[in-house]
Amino acid sequence: MEFDFRKHFRNMKLEENPGFEFRTHHEQGAAFFTFGSLGERIKGIIDEYANKRRLDRRSFLKTASGFAAAMLAVNKVSGMKFFEVSEAEAIDEAAAMEYSTGNEFIIDMHTHVGWRKAGFTKENTTERGMWFVKLLDDLGKSMGLPNGLRDMDVDGFGRYLYKESDTAMAIVNMFGFREDYGGMDMNPIEEVAEARNRWPNRTILLGGGLTINQGMSETLERLDHFIKDLKISGLKLYTFDSTPKKGWWFDDDRAYPLWEKCQKEGIKVIGCHKGIPFGQFMARYSHAEDLDRVADDFLDINWVAFHSGWPYHHELAALKAFKPQRNNLWCELGSTFAATVTNRPVECAHILGTLIRDLGADRVLWGTDSPLWGKAQWQIEAFRKFQIPDQLAEGYGYPKLTDEIKRKILGENHAKLFGINIEEKRKEIKLREA
Ligand SMILES: [Zn+2]
Repeated sequence: MEFDFRKHFRNMKLEENPGFEFRTHHEQGAAFFTFGSLGERIKGIIDEYANKRRLDRRSFLKTASGFAAAMLAVNKVSGMKFFEVSEAEAIDEAAAMEYSTGNEFIIDMHTHVGWRKAGFTKENTTERGMWFVKLLDDLGKSMGLPNGLRDMDVDGFGRYLYKESDTAMAIVNMFGFREDYGGMDMNPIEEVAEARNRWPNRTILLGGGLTINQGMSETLERLDHFIKDLKISGLKLYTFDSTPKKGWWFDDDRAYPLWEKCQKEGIKVIGCHKGIPFGQFMARYSHAEDLDRVADDFLDINWVAFHSGWPYHHELAALKAFKPQRNNLWCELGSTFAATVTNRPVECAHILGTLIRDLGADRVLWGTDSPLWGKAQWQIEAFRKFQIPDQLAEGYGYPKLTDEIKRKILGENHAKLFGINIEEKRKEIKLREA
């Protein structure tokens, strides 16, 4: 995740909201609704249902019914059906629990181990690096992680994704930016790999922290190390970086040896952070246009736009909408869904509608950016209920979010991307254990 959520949800500060502890995923999810732009308008409706349960608002929002009531309230104030949720769920806890479950095989494309063992001190982190550490730390605390970034270690990864959510498998990636972190990546890959080594049948490791601005021979050597020693299954890179040049493009001729090496070594998934031009990073490098050329030049590599390029997702979608022959361009929903579903539901519907209509229901990948947004489960339950309202579907040619499309987005697409046999995995994996 990578933007100032505190401004996004401008009223959400824990110290100003005593009583909110975000212990349950329902409370986390509901809080995002009540602190978002619709908050003031939906609180009254939430209170009506809280009264029916004889609970105060805060206690009510810890329950499944409270979370359902928040979504029902959004439908009511907007006059559009963004969530498939009934009155009964807002009143009756058992009904709310029953209708929030699902048996999809969920694979999370976008997860992090954000902490590193050396920590972040004045000695090993620049001022700019510390600013980013603090951003993630504050964010984590706002999301209910008591120790912020510190809780985004390997244990936290297991807890918030595997133990406390319906997620079956996760793809984990890392922050590099080593110019800001004492010459070592913000998340050294050896440490991130521990998440894969601890849950090897559930976790897929992507290499990261490479930029052509760190010199090609060294970058190629590191890629070689990632592939041979750490057995990465793909890459997730950033085209903005912390070098004096500040960024680069995938379609730069100088980057081609990287892609050629991946091709030769059988690395078939290469992702990039696209959109969400956060912090000190330059927005221009978060546009997706550089995927155009590489997608044509390396047809056997799957190119994944993490965050789906939001708020430039139209540019990404156009790279397939007008090039229907293209089959190797994918997008991922981390942070983009979480940030919009609670706060800007019309925008959320447009984003999902645009991506599914143009890139295709087979090319959209579920991702949560957890544990930056707390427990993954509230996002899963919000997505299960989310719908593109008829007015938008008709006016823009968007598909409705059928169960089939949701199952694809939640995991079947990832399974195809990484060659995972879902039926085999279902036998191997015990959900809710970590
Ligand atoms: Zn991320």
